[in-house]
Amino acid sequence: MPTTTLFILGASGDLTSRLLLPSLAALLGKTPKKRVVLRGAGTEPWEADRWQQTVQTAFGDVADALKQVDIADYVQADVTDASAVAALVEGLDENTVLYFALPPAVTAAAIDAMEGLTLPEGTVLAMEKPFGEDEASARDLNAKLLALVPEQRIFRVDHFLGRSTLLNLLGVRLANRIWEPVWSAEHIEKVLIRFDESVALEGRARYYDKAGAMIDMIQSHLLQVMALVAMDPPSTLHERDLRDAKAAVLRATHVMGDDPAAASRRAQYTAGRIGERELPSYRDEEGVDNARETETLAEVTFEIASDRWAGVPFVLRSGKALTRKHSEIVVTFKPVRHVPPGLDGTPADGGRLTFSLGPDEMHLRLHVTGGDDPFALRHEDLVADLGEGQQRSYEEVLDELLDGDVALSVRADEAEECWRIIQPVRDAWARGATPLEEYPAGSTGPDGWATSHGS
Ligand code: NDP
Repeated sequence: MPTTTLFILGASGDLTSRLLLPSLAALLGKTPKKRVVLRGAGTEPWEADRWQQTVQTAFGDVADALKQVDIADYVQADVTDASAVAALVEGLDENTVLYFALPPAVTAAAIDAMEGLTLPEGTVLAMEKPFGEDEASARDLNAKLLALVPEQRIFRVDHFLGRSTLLNLLGVRLANRIWEPVWSAEHIEKVLIRFDESVALEGRARYYDKAGAMIDMIQSHLLQVMALVAMDPPSTLHERDLRDAKAAVLRATHVMGDDPAAASRRAQYTAGRIGERELPSYRDEEGVDNARETETLAEVTFEIASDRWAGVPFVLRSGKALTRKHSEIVVTFKPVRHVPPGLDGTPADGGRLTFSLGPDEMHLRLHVTGGDDPFALRHEDLVADLGEGQQRSYEEVLDELLDGDVALSVRADEAEECWRIIQPVRDAWARGATPLEEYPAGSTGPDGWATSHGS
């Protein structure tokens, strides 16, 4: 039975207990052939049984999966200290995934501390988002990582790419003859990629207040989603083909009209109510530095300068403390060139294909006639249930990681491109070219925002 050591740096952190370990439990529960040795490190002086307890609690109702896990040691170490890191690396098994579940600045310092070390054959480095803090720092981090292991053993995690809906999108797009001929600027009017959440800051100011919605979501995840939607069909789903196809899209992407002030909007939530929850204004949340003017809702329109896509707006939007969770990819087709006058109710578009995430569904909105008046147009949604989204996103990530497959990991050049793409918007916001609007928590956003997407 194949055994991999998963060594989590940041074993006491939120990501580890809330996402990594429960997802590992779910994955092992479904794949009895996998075995994992679990090691952990952190600065806290944990006894071995505290680590055991953390793992057991996270495995909760899939306790059977614990049989496939060897809960090994917890190491107290400051991973930014070169001698401590050298000692950690010294004892690594072959086939270890070193998972940096650390705040980004600590990860960067840990990679600095690893300079010059020789890692055992087969070591995989798994990096969390955000990867760097701008294009230059991402490039620098890439160079340091590549001095330690080859690209095929660096896993820049984007758990969005592990979402079953996105993988389903590939199936729908690539296996049906009907889409490919119309998947271009000639037939598509616009694409909206939206990830709205009803959750607010939830005590994560230390991270979020520096990132904001644009870096937390648009830079880190939604550009990757866009690349999957817009890429030329890859000849295989092998990592090279898939990532080449995505990277080509990212290289061609720029802010619409190269006018970041006109192509972006940003806003911050004020006090409000979501269901039973009363929320304070973002500016009054603990740990928030108001001088940063962090946006909790961001929207940027991009264009992909290619023969396939030139002129088509790709609107990427994400925000917190909104009325409800709303995550979807909406492809709106151009109106047909001519609707015969005998048909009533000229439609505004030529149909709409929507993928919604959680529940995972595909909706194809078609204009139809029928019913009382056979000449009156109305629309009808054909709905396909794409399943439960059976793989939790981190489950898929861990599955790939343990198999050493980097197809769903973000490649070095893609990570750098994603920072390059948003930089003009960051600059425009920093010089105040785009006002920071407000919206009450529990609303759909500032007045006039949502309606422009027909929602
Ligand atoms: P936390 O702040 O909760 O955890 C940080 C962990 O890092 C703690 O276990 C802490 O250990 C450890 N740590 C900090 N400094 C050191 C050090 N010098 N040496 C060793 N360990 C150290 O962060 P999260 O778990 O929330 O996030 C981790 C990463 O995952 C971030 O990059 C984040 O962006 C990403 N992420 C997080 C998500 C989430 O929902 N939490 C979702 C998606 C991505 P100790 O307490 O022992 O010092």
